[in-house]
Parts: sequence; C-alpha cells; structure tokens
Amino acid sequence: MDALLTGTGGADGWPQPGCRCASCERARDTGVSRDPGGVLVDGTLAFRPGRQPGPGTSSPTAAAHRIDPVPGGWDVTGPDGARLLLAAGPGQVPEPRAEATPYDIALLDLLTSPAQLGLLRSAGLIAAHTTVVALYTDHRVSSVAELARRCALWQAQPGQDGELITSSGGQHATEVRVADGLPRRALIIGGARSGKSTEAELRLSGAPRVTYLAAGPWGSPTGPDGPADTEWVDRVARHRASRPRWWQTVESLDVAGQLRHTSGALLIDGIGTWLAGIMDEAGLWTTGGERVPGSPPDAIVRSRIDDLVDAWRQTAAQVVAVTDDVGSGLVPAYLAGRVFRDQLGWLNQRLAAESELVLHAIAGRITPLPS
Ligand SMILES: [Zn+2]
Repeated sequence: MDALLTGTGGADGWPQPGCRCASCERARDTGVSRDPGGVLVDGTLAFRPGRQPGPGTSSPTAAAHRIDPVPGGWDVTGPDGARLLLAAGPGQVPEPRAEATPYDIALLDLLTSPAQLGLLRSAGLIAAHTTVVALYTDHRVSSVAELARRCALWQAQPGQDGELITSSGGQHATEVRVADGLPRRALIIGGARSGKSTEAELRLSGAPRVTYLAAGPWGSPTGPDGPADTEWVDRVARHRASRPRWWQTVESLDVAGQLRHTSGALLIDGIGTWLAGIMDEAGLWTTGGERVPGSPPDAIVRSRIDDLVDAWRQTAAQVVAVTDDVGSGLVPAYLAGRVFRDQLGWLNQRLAAESELVLHAIAGRITPLPS
C-alpha cells in the first residue's frame, strides 16, 4: 500500500490565506506551503476531510480495499493486507475498533492529540514498523522546525505535500521502545508558568508506557505557605485531568525509588516540590530552617538529596524531570526559604551535570543548554 499526501495542511492550509499570525508569517518567510490535507491511497482512493472516499486517478479498483469508518477516521485495509489508519480531518482523532490489527501507516492530526500515539502504541496498534505521519498541520504550531522537533520526539514524520508513504510490510510483533535515540535523562528548568511541565508532557506523549510521578504536594502546599487552600487543590486536579488517562500516576516523595525501579518512561514533576516535601518531612519549615551542623533534620535532607542524585545517575528509565529555577528574584526573608533556594540551586546543578539534556523553559520557549 502507498499513500500519496496530496496536502498536509489544516482545513485552510498553512500558511492560512489572509492570516497574519506569527506562524503563518514565518511560514511565508521560509517558503512553507501546505495545501489542505488529503490522501490518495494506491492511486485509486481519494480521501478529503468532510467527504466520503472518492475514486482516485488510477483505474477504479476501490473494491479491492476494505474501508471501515471508525469514529474520527478511516480504517483501510489494502488488497495486499496492508493497514492504514487515517484521521478524517483536522481535529479528528480516529478510534480503532477493539478487534483492529496493527497498522502499517498512520496519518494523524498530532497537533490535536499527540497523546493518541502513546495510546495506540500501548494497544499495540502502532508498532515499530508503522510509519506515522503528522497530517493537517497548520498555525497551531509555531513553525515547521518546531513541528519537526516534536515529530522527532514522537517518532513520527512531519510529512510534506507530494510525499509518498509506502508500507514497509514489516513484522507486527515488534514493540516500540520508549523513544530510541532520545536522551535517557532530560532535565527541564524554568520559573512558574514557564511551560516546563507542558514540554515534559509533550516529550513523552508518544511513549506507550509512562509513569507520572507527582512528587508532592498533592492536597495542599507544604512549605512556608501553610494550610490547604482550595485554589491549590483545584490546580492539582486540573493538572491531573489534563494528563492522558492511561498514564500511571504515582504520588510519592520516593523519587529515588521510582528512578531505581521504573522501566519505560518516567516523568517527574517536580524536583522543587520534592525538596519542599523532604524539608517538610524533616521539620525544617516548622523550625524556620534553623540548622545546627550535624543535627538530624539537616542530615536527613542532605542524605535524601545524595540518594536522589545517586539514583538519577544509575536509572534505567527514560526520565524527564521538571525543576524550578530559583534565586532570580528576591532573597527570601525567612531562613527556611533561603535554605530551600540554596539546596535546590545546588541540586539542580548536580542533576544537570548528570543529564544528557538540559532544557531551559521561558515564556513557553524551550532552549537546550550547552553541556
Ligand atoms: Zn495563522
């Protein structure tokens, strides 16, 4: 089976005529031109969003293909037995039937739902031999370069108009590894609302098995701000609801244990809240951070930090961890706050030194930091 991408853009293409957004302007400046998405299968079957499959340019042998409409798309089996999953249009997320068999080609709107890739992989419907292509791409992403960056993370192809995708006829039994060729340890550092958590989740969207480690606090803020408040609880609940439902969520301060025992992908969110929780357990917030060298609370925190760094160095998981950038603003007025700031700053340095990739998140932009 082959699939000719007659267009790879969104409903109005990319750049969108008349649109002056930064993405469309950047696309014009760099000569990007994507027609509204469409696919011609084996030359005989034309798929266009919002329409029934129509005849293609070659002789009408459409009967040789089995076309099964599924919610959000089409499930097509070719005369050679090759399998295609196609999103019906921009914003559509095809849901294969329970009895579906693995696909050779998947043409999906990855800007709408990158996490669908992980779900299809966890169900075995997208395997190592499956060619995955992003279709219906448009100004929802800032540039073709950013699209290509995301596709590399998701083991997908960004696609381009006129490209011919051919099924490989590979074996169906091969399981996709987490993300071949991607760094084992990625540390993402940024301030509040910098986009660091979004980047962390985006990086693992295509992975079949993800453990999401919420390293506290879960019910109420620990640290100097004291008791539970409903805004915080709501925020935690919103974050939880926004994650793919098939991710395994673990709420624990035992980050070192998870690093030692998790296989597959592990998302840690985040190192700063973990340290706050550890300091809370050691009673350093309630004592105001008062430290006597060698005293139990101080020693507990230092040994937990050493243990975390050791587990980080030796982990077999593919880890993406989020941490807070501290120290850019005011010096905390209270001692515990200064202890937290100093310890987190040093911990960030130690983790960064042991990471294949360190990213800085600021204003939603992601910058790799040189090693
Ligand atoms: Zn635009």
